[in-house]
Parts: sequence; structure tokens; C-alpha cells
Amino acid sequence: MPTTLIRRAEVLVTMDGQRREIHDGGLFIRDNVIEQVGLTNELPAQADRVIDLSGHVVLPGLINTHHHMYQTLTRAVPAAQDANLFNWLKTLYLMWANLTGEAVYISALVAMGELILSGCTTSSDHLYLYPNEAKIDDEIRAAQEIGLRFHAARGSMSLGESKGGLPPDRVVENEAAILEDCQRVIETYHDPKPYSMLQIVLAPCSPFSVTGDLMRESVAMARHYGVTLHTHLAETLDEEAFCLEKFGRRPVEYMEDLGWIGDHVWHAHCVHMSEREIALFGQTRTGVAHCPSSNMRLGSGIAPVKGFRARGVPLGLGVDGSASNDSSHMLAEVRQAMLLQRVTGDPAGLTARQALEIATLGGASVLRRDDIGSLESGKAADVIAIKLSRVEYAGALHDPVAATVFCAPVHVDWSMINGQVVVQDGRLTTVDMGPVVERHNAIARGMIRER
Ligand code: ZN
Repeated sequence: MPTTLIRRAEVLVTMDGQRREIHDGGLFIRDNVIEQVGLTNELPAQADRVIDLSGHVVLPGLINTHHHMYQTLTRAVPAAQDANLFNWLKTLYLMWANLTGEAVYISALVAMGELILSGCTTSSDHLYLYPNEAKIDDEIRAAQEIGLRFHAARGSMSLGESKGGLPPDRVVENEAAILEDCQRVIETYHDPKPYSMLQIVLAPCSPFSVTGDLMRESVAMARHYGVTLHTHLAETLDEEAFCLEKFGRRPVEYMEDLGWIGDHVWHAHCVHMSEREIALFGQTRTGVAHCPSSNMRLGSGIAPVKGFRARGVPLGLGVDGSASNDSSHMLAEVRQAMLLQRVTGDPAGLTARQALEIATLGGASVLRRDDIGSLESGKAADVIAIKLSRVEYAGALHDPVAATVFCAPVHVDWSMINGQVVVQDGRLTTVDMGPVVERHNAIARGMIRER
């Protein structure tokens, strides 16, 4: 099995139990797994491949726990730039109805490319509409080609306007067909083994776009196959009003009734949560994907991150979007998370290192993975490196780790996922993004014109 030696990092952030930051640090990797972490001169002197990262800060790869990659096709759409969630959705559903299998594949490559360049090594994606024979297989193919560790969330919508839901009938699916496809996707792709590069998640879209029956059926199927569950929850006050009116329950109460609480479940947003609901999530280890940029962009509110941390809620970060962000920049999201907790008057609301912890260890706990999120012996070789001699960090080198969060978000210079180098000298090694971006822009133009 080939070995890799990473040596001479200016500082190597382990995120281990002691949160060690090792100056002149390195890693010894066998195949796709970290075998040793330590000072350069304590590691073996030779390996099949030796990578010198002097002048770089080295971190565990960042983990993105919520996204809709197809939305990169509808970034900054004029009619949806200044709308709240429900109006934003109603404008965009009509454009998303033009999505095709090729559009899913190309937009996933664009989103994954941007994620990897901005420090992400594992991502989930929540794909919940499948018009024109689009399939989740289309984005799985993109992840395999680009080399991203991927949790594909097979989303769904079944509650069209004619049944009291928010989306137009033409973008919803029949529930029997949804469940049949979920089963097919799990049986075809789900890999639960350590260092898995591909897992499947069941993910009905939200309380206002699917029925309670589909939520319950999804829980049963997830239990049967041992896969995780994901949806949107408590994102806006409109949603709270919708749930109180339709079900006589707050969003979290409604999900409790449906069995959507527990250590195999994570919810995106969770902005509007009572103290009782935060405590419930902590007790039951129900996870949260915090999406600060999206919450700011849509005016949804500020999620109670300090409360989640105090109550031991598994908490990760999500770029969301990309029509409500409109970026897949992971390091930028870490910065937004830190800044947003300070807005209401607490300049120590979230520190740079706490924000990095949420984006690494936190994301791993949300995705129920104990093999990623830190640089330790036995963990997957998911590692990123950022050169320090850049204009953005000039004057910040007394604390290079904090510089990655406080200073302007940058692209990584080097990245390894599962032992494979996917970014070298700041460029993706696996996919040539030039033609992909060109095709993406052509598809985006068509989607918006045809609505
Ligand atoms: Zn979302």
C-alpha cells in the first residue's frame, strides 16, 4: 500500500481531543488513512510520496452538511434577489421545473468544484426535485469524477398546490414512486463502511412540501436500511405559522410526532427554536446544519448556536443554496458563522477556532461519521493546506489559524480527499472546470428563459 509523508507544515491543526496545533507538523498516511500525526522530525523520514507543506497552515478538510447544488444554476436571479423564503421559492420553482439530468450533473460539478477549492472535503447535497427524468445518479456521478466524499440526500416533494402545499403540482412526485426510488438508490449506492466515499440519506423536503405519511414512511425505510434522515426545519416564522395553522403544532413538535427526532436525524436551519426544543435536540442527539449566509440572505433570523453548543446538540455548517447564499464557499461560511453570532452584541459569541470546530468535528458528528473531521491516527486522509504568504493574510501571521477565519475567505492551495490529491497549486486536478462553467452558464440561461 502506498505511503504519503506530509511534512514541515507551519502549523497543523489536528482537532484532536486536546485540540493540538502542531508547529512544524506533519502526517504519515498509508493509502487513504492517517497513521501518524506529529512533529516533522518524529515522523518516518521516507515515504512513497513526500509532500512539503512549509509555509502552509494545514487543517482537517471542512464538512458541508446542507446544500442544493442544482441551485447554482439560479444564483442571483433578479426576481428572487430580495424575497423572503416562501416568495423566493414560488419564483424559483418555475425555473427549477426545467431541470434535466445533464443540468443536475453539470451544476453538481460546479458546486463541488467551488466547495473543494474553498476547503471542503465532504459534502451532503439535498436534491428534492426530479423533473424531466433527472435522477440523483446524475450528481453521484459528478462526486465520483471530482473525488468528493459525498452524502447524497434523496429529497422529495409530494404536496403540490392543489393539496395545500407550497410548490406547483408540476414539480412534485407521486409518493409511491418516491419511496421506490429511495429504495433503489440505497440498494445501489449506500456504503456504510469506514472511509466510505458515498452514503445515501432520505430527505423529504420540508413540512410544507410533503405529507406526514411520507415523513413516517421515510423514517421506517431509514431504520430498515440504517441510513440517516435530513430535512429543513424551523427556518422561518412563515413556516411556524404554516405548521400552527395546518397541524396545530410548532414545526419541531410536528416533527416529533412524525418520529423525526434522534441520533440518525439532522435538520437544516433550526433558527426559530424554543429552549425546550434546543434541550430536546441535545438529549436525543438530533443534529443541526447551521446555514448563516442563507439565513442572512433571506432575512430568516439568527440560529441559537450558543444554545446548541451549550446543550450538546450535534452542530455542523451548511453553505445551503446556492440560490440563497449564492456561494458554495465553505471557508466563507465559517467566517459568516463566527460573525453572525456577534451581531447582537457579543463580540466573543463564537471564536474563530469554535467556528472551525463546527465546520470539521461538528460536521462529522452531524453526518454520523467518526472517521473524518480531525487529523488523527485512524482517520481518513482528508487534509487541506493554505499558503500563508498571500496578500489576504499579510499582517495576520502571529495567528495563522485565526487568519483563515478572520481574514478574507480564500481558496486552498492544496487538498487531499481519501488519500487522493484533488487540488494542487490552487487548481483542481480531477476535473477541468473551464468547459464545465461554460456549459453551466448555457444551461442556466436556458432554464431562466424557458420558464
Ligand atoms: Zn436548504
